Amino acid sequence: MHAGVENFVIVDRKTVGASFAAWPDETKFITPSFPSNSIGMLDLNSIAIGISPAFSMRVEHPTGAEYAEHLQGIAEFFELPLKENTEVKNIEKKNDIFTVNTNEGILKSKFVIWSAGEYQYPNLKGFNGSELCRHTSTVSRYSDLEGDDFLIIGGYESGIDAAVHLSNLDKKIRLFDMNAPWLEETSDPSVSLSTFSFERMDNPMFEKNTKLFPNTPVKSVTHQDGVYVLKTADGQTFSTPNQPLLAGGFTGSHKFVSHLFDMREDGFPVINDSDESTTTQGMYLCGPSVRHDGHIFCFIFKYRQRFAIVAQAIAESMDIPTDEFVEAYKSWGMYLDDLSCCGQECLTC
Ligand SMILES: Cc1cc2nc3c(=O)[nH]c(=O)nc-3n(C[C@H](O)[C@H](O)[C@H](O)COP(=O)(O)OP(=O)(O)OC[C@H]3O[C@@H](n4cnc5c(N)ncnc54)[C@H](O)[C@@H]3O)c2cc1C
Repeated sequence: MHAGVENFVIVDRKTVGASFAAWPDETKFITPSFPSNSIGMLDLNSIAIGISPAFSMRVEHPTGAEYAEHLQGIAEFFELPLKENTEVKNIEKKNDIFTVNTNEGILKSKFVIWSAGEYQYPNLKGFNGSELCRHTSTVSRYSDLEGDDFLIIGGYESGIDAAVHLSNLDKKIRLFDMNAPWLEETSDPSVSLSTFSFERMDNPMFEKNTKLFPNTPVKSVTHQDGVYVLKTADGQTFSTPNQPLLAGGFTGSHKFVSHLFDMREDGFPVINDSDESTTTQGMYLCGPSVRHDGHIFCFIFKYRQRFAIVAQAIAESMDIPTDEFVEAYKSWGMYLDDLSCCGQECLTC
Protein backbone atom coordinates (compact mmCIF):
# COMPACT_ATOMS: atom_id res chain seq x y z
CA MET A 1 0.00 0.00 0.00
CA HIS A 2 2.77 2.47 0.97
CA ALA A 3 4.65 1.50 -2.20
CA GLY A 4 1.67 2.59 -4.29
CA VAL A 5 0.26 -0.83 -5.21
CA GLU A 6 -3.50 -0.56 -4.79
CA ASN A 7 -5.03 -3.73 -6.14
CA PHE A 8 -4.25 -6.49 -3.64
CA VAL A 9 -5.93 -8.74 -1.12
CA ILE A 10 -4.76 -10.47 2.07
CA VAL A 11 -6.05 -14.02 2.32
CA ASP A 12 -6.17 -15.87 5.66
CA ARG A 13 -7.66 -19.27 6.49
CA LYS A 14 -8.75 -17.84 9.84
CA THR A 15 -8.42 -14.22 10.94
CA VAL A 16 -5.65 -11.63 11.21
CA GLY A 17 -3.24 -12.72 13.95
CA ALA A 18 -4.66 -16.26 14.15
CA SER A 19 -1.31 -17.90 14.94
CA PHE A 20 -0.62 -15.48 17.79
CA ALA A 21 -4.16 -15.98 19.11
CA ALA A 22 -3.44 -19.73 19.24
CA TRP A 23 -0.40 -19.43 21.55
CA PRO A 24 -0.80 -20.91 25.02
CA ASP A 25 -2.41 -18.26 27.24
CA GLU A 26 0.69 -17.90 29.43
CA THR A 27 3.17 -17.47 26.54
CA LYS A 28 4.48 -13.95 26.04
CA PHE A 29 6.72 -12.24 23.51
CA ILE A 30 10.37 -12.80 24.24
CA THR A 31 11.37 -9.65 22.37
CA PRO A 32 10.50 -6.58 24.47
CA SER A 33 8.42 -3.69 23.21
CA PHE A 34 9.41 -0.13 24.03
CA PRO A 35 8.05 3.12 22.55
CA SER A 36 11.42 4.08 21.05
CA ASN A 37 9.80 5.48 17.88
CA SER A 38 10.22 9.06 19.15
CA ILE A 39 13.93 8.97 18.28
CA GLY A 40 13.47 7.11 15.00
CA MET A 41 14.08 3.61 16.37
CA LEU A 42 11.07 1.47 15.67
CA ASP A 43 9.69 -0.62 18.56
CA LEU A 44 11.23 -4.11 18.16
CA ASN A 45 7.81 -5.73 17.83
CA SER A 46 6.33 -3.22 15.41
CA ILE A 47 5.47 -4.37 11.90
CA ALA A 48 4.64 -0.92 10.52
CA ILE A 49 6.25 2.50 10.53
CA GLY A 50 4.87 4.81 13.23
CA ILE A 51 3.37 1.94 15.24
CA SER A 52 4.52 0.83 18.69
CA PRO A 53 2.83 -2.11 20.42
CA ALA A 54 4.38 -0.85 23.68
CA PHE A 55 2.62 2.49 23.27
CA SER A 56 -0.75 1.16 22.13
CA MET A 57 -0.89 -1.79 24.55
CA ARG A 58 1.24 -0.48 27.43
CA VAL A 59 2.91 -3.84 27.79
CA GLU A 60 6.53 -4.87 27.27
CA HIS A 61 6.04 -8.60 26.59
CA PRO A 62 2.57 -9.02 25.06
CA THR A 63 0.76 -12.34 25.08
CA GLY A 64 -0.19 -13.89 21.73
CA ALA A 65 -3.82 -12.86 22.25
CA GLU A 66 -2.80 -9.24 22.93
CA TYR A 67 -0.58 -9.13 19.86
CA ALA A 68 -3.32 -10.66 17.66
CA GLU A 69 -5.63 -7.86 18.78
CA HIS A 70 -2.89 -5.34 18.00
CA LEU A 71 -2.54 -6.75 14.44
CA GLN A 72 -6.30 -6.59 13.95
CA GLY A 73 -6.17 -2.94 15.04
CA ILE A 74 -3.48 -2.23 12.43
CA ALA A 75 -5.53 -3.93 9.70
CA GLU A 76 -8.51 -1.79 10.65
CA PHE A 77 -6.49 1.45 10.92
CA PHE A 78 -4.95 1.03 7.46
CA GLU A 79 -8.23 -0.34 6.06
CA LEU A 80 -6.43 -3.36 4.61
CA PRO A 81 -8.40 -5.46 2.13
CA LEU A 82 -8.91 -8.75 3.97
CA LYS A 83 -10.34 -12.04 2.79
CA GLU A 84 -10.56 -14.00 6.04
CA ASN A 85 -11.81 -17.55 6.64
CA THR A 86 -10.43 -18.39 3.22
CA GLU A 87 -8.02 -21.29 3.04
CA VAL A 88 -5.49 -21.51 0.22
CA LYS A 89 -5.56 -25.09 -1.06
CA ASN A 90 -3.19 -24.83 -3.97
CA ILE A 91 -1.25 -22.31 -6.07
CA GLU A 92 -0.32 -22.82 -9.71
CA LYS A 93 1.21 -20.50 -12.30
CA LYS A 94 0.31 -20.58 -15.99
CA ASN A 95 0.97 -17.97 -18.70
CA ASP A 96 2.34 -15.40 -16.22
CA ILE A 97 -0.75 -15.60 -13.99
CA PHE A 98 -1.05 -17.33 -10.62
CA THR A 99 -4.22 -19.25 -9.90
CA VAL A 100 -4.84 -19.45 -6.16
CA ASN A 101 -7.42 -22.10 -5.33
CA THR A 102 -9.24 -21.51 -2.05
CA ASN A 103 -12.23 -23.01 -0.29
CA GLU A 104 -14.01 -19.78 -1.23
CA GLY A 105 -13.22 -19.87 -4.95
CA ILE A 106 -10.38 -18.98 -7.30
CA LEU A 107 -8.20 -15.86 -7.11
CA LYS A 108 -5.94 -14.76 -9.97
CA SER A 109 -2.92 -12.51 -9.74
CA LYS A 110 0.40 -11.63 -11.34
CA PHE A 111 2.12 -11.72 -7.93
CA VAL A 112 1.82 -13.84 -4.82
CA ILE A 113 3.55 -13.13 -1.48
CA TRP A 114 3.66 -16.32 0.58
CA SER A 115 3.58 -15.42 4.28
CA ALA A 116 1.69 -18.25 5.95
CA GLY A 117 4.26 -18.54 8.74
CA GLU A 118 5.29 -21.56 10.76
CA TYR A 119 3.07 -21.90 13.80
CA GLN A 120 0.23 -23.71 12.05
CA TYR A 121 2.71 -26.18 10.52
CA PRO A 122 4.34 -27.92 13.55
CA ASN A 123 7.11 -30.49 13.25
CA LEU A 124 5.57 -33.68 14.62
CA LYS A 125 8.46 -35.94 13.66
CA GLY A 126 12.02 -36.46 14.87
CA PHE A 127 12.13 -39.82 16.65
CA ASN A 128 10.13 -43.03 17.01
CA GLY A 129 6.89 -42.36 18.83
CA SER A 130 7.01 -38.57 18.45
CA GLU A 131 3.33 -38.74 17.42
CA LEU A 132 2.51 -39.94 20.95
CA CYS A 133 3.69 -36.61 22.33
CA ARG A 134 1.73 -33.36 22.43
CA HIS A 135 3.16 -30.48 20.42
CA THR A 136 3.35 -27.30 22.50
CA SER A 137 1.50 -25.41 19.76
CA THR A 138 -1.66 -27.39 20.65
CA VAL A 139 -1.60 -26.36 24.33
CA SER A 140 -4.11 -23.62 25.02
CA ARG A 141 -3.17 -23.12 28.67
CA TYR A 142 -0.32 -24.74 30.65
CA SER A 143 -2.30 -24.46 33.87
CA ASP A 144 -4.93 -26.77 32.34
CA LEU A 145 -2.47 -29.66 31.92
CA GLU A 146 -3.14 -32.42 34.39
CA GLY A 147 -0.30 -34.24 36.12
CA ASP A 148 2.66 -33.43 38.32
CA ASP A 149 5.64 -34.29 36.18
CA PHE A 150 6.38 -33.67 32.53
CA LEU A 151 8.98 -34.75 29.99
CA ILE A 152 9.70 -31.97 27.48
CA ILE A 153 11.54 -32.69 24.25
CA GLY A 154 13.17 -29.56 22.84
CA GLY A 155 14.99 -26.86 24.77
CA TYR A 156 14.80 -23.81 22.58
CA GLU A 157 12.29 -20.98 23.23
CA SER A 158 9.05 -23.06 23.20
CA GLY A 159 10.46 -25.86 25.37
CA ILE A 160 11.96 -23.48 27.91
CA ASP A 161 8.74 -21.45 27.89
CA ALA A 162 6.73 -24.60 28.73
CA ALA A 163 9.23 -25.52 31.47
CA VAL A 164 9.00 -22.01 32.98
CA HIS A 165 5.19 -22.05 33.20
CA LEU A 166 4.96 -25.63 34.46
CA SER A 167 7.73 -25.20 37.04
CA ASN A 168 5.99 -22.06 38.31
CA LEU A 169 2.98 -24.33 38.91
CA ASP A 170 5.33 -26.55 40.96
CA LYS A 171 5.36 -29.39 38.39
CA LYS A 172 8.52 -31.45 37.97
CA ILE A 173 10.14 -31.12 34.55
CA ARG A 174 12.79 -33.13 32.76
CA LEU A 175 13.77 -31.37 29.54
CA PHE A 176 15.87 -32.95 26.77
CA ASP A 177 17.65 -31.30 23.88
CA MET A 178 19.94 -32.86 21.29
CA ASN A 179 22.01 -29.67 21.57
CA ALA A 180 22.16 -27.18 24.43
CA PRO A 181 20.57 -23.86 23.39
CA TRP A 182 20.92 -22.50 26.95
CA LEU A 183 24.70 -23.00 26.76
CA GLU A 184 25.19 -21.32 23.33
CA GLU A 185 27.82 -18.58 23.37
CA THR A 186 26.59 -16.62 20.32
CA SER A 187 24.68 -13.35 20.77
CA ASP A 188 22.43 -14.02 17.74
CA PRO A 189 18.92 -14.61 19.18
CA SER A 190 18.11 -16.82 16.17
CA VAL A 191 20.54 -19.35 17.63
CA SER A 192 20.86 -18.76 21.37
CA LEU A 193 18.09 -18.31 23.93
CA SER A 194 16.60 -14.87 24.50
CA THR A 195 17.47 -12.69 27.47
CA PHE A 196 13.83 -13.02 28.57
CA SER A 197 14.20 -16.80 28.79
CA PHE A 198 17.56 -16.67 30.59
CA GLU A 199 16.02 -14.28 33.09
CA ARG A 200 13.06 -16.59 33.68
CA MET A 201 15.36 -19.60 34.09
CA ASP A 202 17.21 -17.73 36.80
CA ASN A 203 14.31 -18.26 39.19
CA PRO A 204 14.12 -20.48 42.31
CA MET A 205 11.00 -22.31 41.04
CA PHE A 206 12.70 -23.13 37.72
CA GLU A 207 15.87 -24.29 39.45
CA LYS A 208 13.94 -26.36 41.97
CA ASN A 209 11.63 -28.06 39.48
CA THR A 210 13.43 -28.34 36.13
CA LYS A 211 16.22 -30.75 35.28
CA LEU A 212 17.91 -29.99 31.97
CA PHE A 213 19.48 -32.73 29.83
CA PRO A 214 21.74 -31.00 27.27
CA ASN A 215 23.22 -32.87 24.29
CA THR A 216 20.76 -35.70 24.88
CA PRO A 217 18.93 -36.79 21.71
CA VAL A 218 15.66 -38.65 22.34
CA LYS A 219 15.56 -42.01 20.58
CA SER A 220 11.97 -43.09 21.23
CA VAL A 221 8.77 -42.60 23.18
CA THR A 222 6.37 -45.48 23.80
CA HIS A 223 3.04 -45.63 25.59
CA GLN A 224 1.92 -48.80 27.33
CA ASP A 225 -0.42 -49.49 30.24
CA GLY A 226 -0.89 -45.77 30.85
CA VAL A 227 2.85 -45.07 31.09
CA TYR A 228 4.94 -43.07 28.63
CA VAL A 229 8.55 -44.28 28.41
CA LEU A 230 11.19 -42.04 26.87
CA LYS A 231 14.54 -43.52 25.83
CA THR A 232 17.55 -41.37 25.01
CA ALA A 233 20.21 -42.19 22.45
CA ASP A 234 22.74 -42.69 25.25
CA GLY A 235 20.59 -45.40 26.85
CA GLN A 236 18.81 -43.58 29.68
CA THR A 237 15.11 -44.31 30.34
CA PHE A 238 12.49 -41.98 31.86
CA SER A 239 8.81 -42.60 32.50
CA THR A 240 5.69 -40.61 33.34
CA PRO A 241 1.93 -41.12 33.27
CA ASN A 242 1.55 -37.72 31.56
CA GLN A 243 1.76 -37.13 27.83
CA PRO A 244 5.27 -35.79 27.00
CA LEU A 245 5.41 -32.34 25.45
CA LEU A 246 7.07 -31.94 22.08
CA ALA A 247 8.75 -28.60 21.51
CA GLY A 248 10.50 -29.65 18.34
CA GLY A 249 9.75 -26.55 16.31
CA PHE A 250 7.94 -26.17 13.02
CA THR A 251 8.27 -27.55 9.51
CA GLY A 252 6.90 -24.22 8.27
CA SER A 253 4.32 -23.37 5.62
CA HIS A 254 6.96 -23.00 2.90
CA LYS A 255 6.73 -26.81 2.42
CA PHE A 256 3.22 -26.11 1.10
CA VAL A 257 4.62 -24.10 -1.82
CA SER A 258 7.81 -26.10 -2.37
CA HIS A 259 6.80 -26.71 -6.03
CA LEU A 260 7.22 -22.97 -6.64
CA PHE A 261 10.73 -22.63 -5.17
CA ASP A 262 14.08 -24.35 -5.31
CA MET A 263 14.99 -25.52 -1.84
CA ARG A 264 18.27 -24.98 0.01
CA GLU A 265 20.06 -27.87 1.67
CA ASP A 266 18.51 -26.85 5.00
CA GLY A 267 15.01 -27.09 3.48
CA PHE A 268 14.32 -23.34 3.23
CA PRO A 269 13.34 -21.73 -0.10
CA VAL A 270 16.00 -20.30 -2.38
CA ILE A 271 15.18 -16.63 -2.99
CA ASN A 272 16.90 -13.86 -4.91
CA ASP A 273 17.91 -10.40 -3.62
CA SER A 274 14.24 -9.31 -3.76
CA ASP A 275 13.05 -12.40 -1.83
CA GLU A 276 11.48 -13.73 -5.02
CA SER A 277 11.58 -17.39 -6.03
CA THR A 278 14.45 -18.18 -8.37
CA THR A 279 12.24 -20.64 -10.30
CA THR A 280 8.85 -18.88 -10.38
CA GLN A 281 8.86 -15.20 -11.25
CA GLY A 282 6.32 -13.16 -9.25
CA MET A 283 6.33 -15.57 -6.28
CA TYR A 284 7.71 -13.87 -3.14
CA LEU A 285 8.42 -15.02 0.40
CA CYS A 286 7.93 -12.95 3.57
CA GLY A 287 8.27 -13.87 7.22
CA PRO A 288 10.29 -16.20 9.44
CA SER A 289 11.29 -18.64 6.66
CA VAL A 290 13.38 -16.00 4.89
CA ARG A 291 17.04 -17.07 4.72
CA HIS A 292 19.98 -15.47 2.92
CA ASP A 293 23.21 -17.44 3.20
CA GLY A 294 23.68 -17.97 6.95
CA HIS A 295 21.31 -15.16 7.96
CA ILE A 296 18.11 -16.32 9.67
CA PHE A 297 15.24 -13.79 9.56
CA CYS A 298 13.10 -15.56 12.15
CA PHE A 299 12.05 -12.64 14.37
CA ILE A 300 9.77 -9.72 13.57
CA PHE A 301 12.56 -7.15 14.03
CA LYS A 302 14.57 -9.10 11.44
CA TYR A 303 12.12 -10.09 8.70
CA ARG A 304 10.16 -6.80 8.82
CA GLN A 305 13.24 -5.24 7.22
CA ARG A 306 12.56 -7.26 4.06
CA PHE A 307 8.87 -6.29 3.58
CA ALA A 308 9.78 -3.10 1.70
CA ILE A 309 12.24 -4.96 -0.53
CA VAL A 310 9.38 -7.15 -1.78
CA ALA A 311 7.00 -4.19 -2.10
CA GLN A 312 9.61 -2.24 -4.04
CA ALA A 313 10.21 -5.13 -6.48
CA ILE A 314 6.49 -5.51 -7.18
CA ALA A 315 5.87 -1.75 -7.49
CA GLU A 316 8.82 -1.29 -9.86
CA SER A 317 7.64 -4.10 -12.09
CA MET A 318 4.38 -2.12 -12.38
CA ASP A 319 6.38 1.04 -13.24
CA ILE A 320 5.45 2.74 -9.97
CA PRO A 321 8.24 5.08 -8.74
CA THR A 322 9.59 3.90 -5.36
CA ASP A 323 12.40 6.32 -4.40
CA GLU A 324 10.41 8.19 -1.73
CA PHE A 325 8.94 5.00 -0.34
CA VAL A 326 12.37 3.35 -0.06
CA GLU A 327 13.88 6.46 1.59
CA ALA A 328 11.09 6.55 4.20
CA TYR A 329 11.48 2.86 5.01
CA LYS A 330 15.28 3.14 5.14
CA SER A 331 15.10 6.02 7.58
CA TRP A 332 13.07 3.81 9.95
CA GLY A 333 15.42 0.82 9.70
CA MET A 334 12.71 -1.02 7.77
CA TYR A 335 14.74 -1.62 4.62
CA LEU A 336 17.70 -3.97 4.79
CA ASP A 337 19.31 -4.68 1.42
CA ASP A 338 22.96 -4.79 2.48
CA LEU A 339 23.35 -7.93 4.55
CA SER A 340 27.05 -7.37 5.19
CA CYS A 341 26.08 -5.74 8.51
CA CYS A 342 24.38 -8.93 9.74
CA GLY A 343 26.10 -11.57 11.82
CA GLN A 344 27.91 -9.19 14.18
CA GLU A 345 28.51 -10.59 17.65
CA CYS A 346 28.00 -8.37 20.72
CA LEU A 347 31.10 -7.46 22.72
CA THR A 348 31.34 -9.14 26.10
CA CYS A 349 32.57 -6.12 28.07
C1 LIG B 1 6.12 -19.50 21.30
C2 LIG B 1 6.59 -18.48 20.31
C3 LIG B 1 7.09 -17.26 20.74
C4 LIG B 1 7.53 -16.32 19.82
N1 LIG B 1 7.99 -15.12 20.27
C5 LIG B 1 8.40 -14.20 19.39
C6 LIG B 1 8.89 -12.94 19.86
O1 LIG B 1 8.94 -12.66 21.04
N2 LIG B 1 9.31 -12.04 18.92
C7 LIG B 1 9.27 -12.31 17.59
O2 LIG B 1 9.68 -11.48 16.80
N3 LIG B 1 8.80 -13.50 17.13
C8 LIG B 1 8.38 -14.44 18.00
N4 LIG B 1 7.93 -15.64 17.55
C9 LIG B 1 7.89 -15.87 16.11
C10 LIG B 1 6.65 -15.19 15.53
O3 LIG B 1 5.52 -15.66 16.20
C11 LIG B 1 6.55 -15.52 14.06
O4 LIG B 1 7.70 -15.03 13.43
C12 LIG B 1 5.33 -14.86 13.43
O5 LIG B 1 4.14 -15.41 13.92
C13 LIG B 1 5.38 -15.05 11.93
O6 LIG B 1 4.39 -14.24 11.37
P1 LIG B 1 3.75 -14.66 10.00
O7 LIG B 1 2.68 -13.67 9.70
O8 LIG B 1 4.81 -14.91 8.99
O9 LIG B 1 3.09 -16.10 10.31
P2 LIG B 1 1.85 -16.42 11.24
O10 LIG B 1 1.77 -15.49 12.40
O11 LIG B 1 1.86 -17.89 11.49
O12 LIG B 1 0.64 -16.04 10.30
C14 LIG B 1 0.36 -16.80 9.17
C15 LIG B 1 -1.09 -16.62 8.81
O13 LIG B 1 -1.34 -17.38 7.62
C16 LIG B 1 -2.55 -18.08 7.74
N5 LIG B 1 -2.43 -19.29 6.92
C17 LIG B 1 -1.57 -20.33 7.09
N6 LIG B 1 -1.75 -21.25 6.11
C18 LIG B 1 -2.74 -20.77 5.31
C19 LIG B 1 -3.39 -21.27 4.15
N7 LIG B 1 -3.06 -22.43 3.59
N8 LIG B 1 -4.36 -20.51 3.60
C20 LIG B 1 -4.70 -19.31 4.12
N9 LIG B 1 -4.13 -18.80 5.23
C21 LIG B 1 -3.16 -19.52 5.82
C22 LIG B 1 -2.73 -18.35 9.22
O14 LIG B 1 -4.07 -18.46 9.61
C23 LIG B 1 -2.04 -17.15 9.88
O15 LIG B 1 -2.95 -16.15 10.24
C24 LIG B 1 7.47 -16.60 18.43
C25 LIG B 1 6.97 -17.82 18.00
C26 LIG B 1 6.53 -18.75 18.92
C27 LIG B 1 5.98 -20.06 18.42
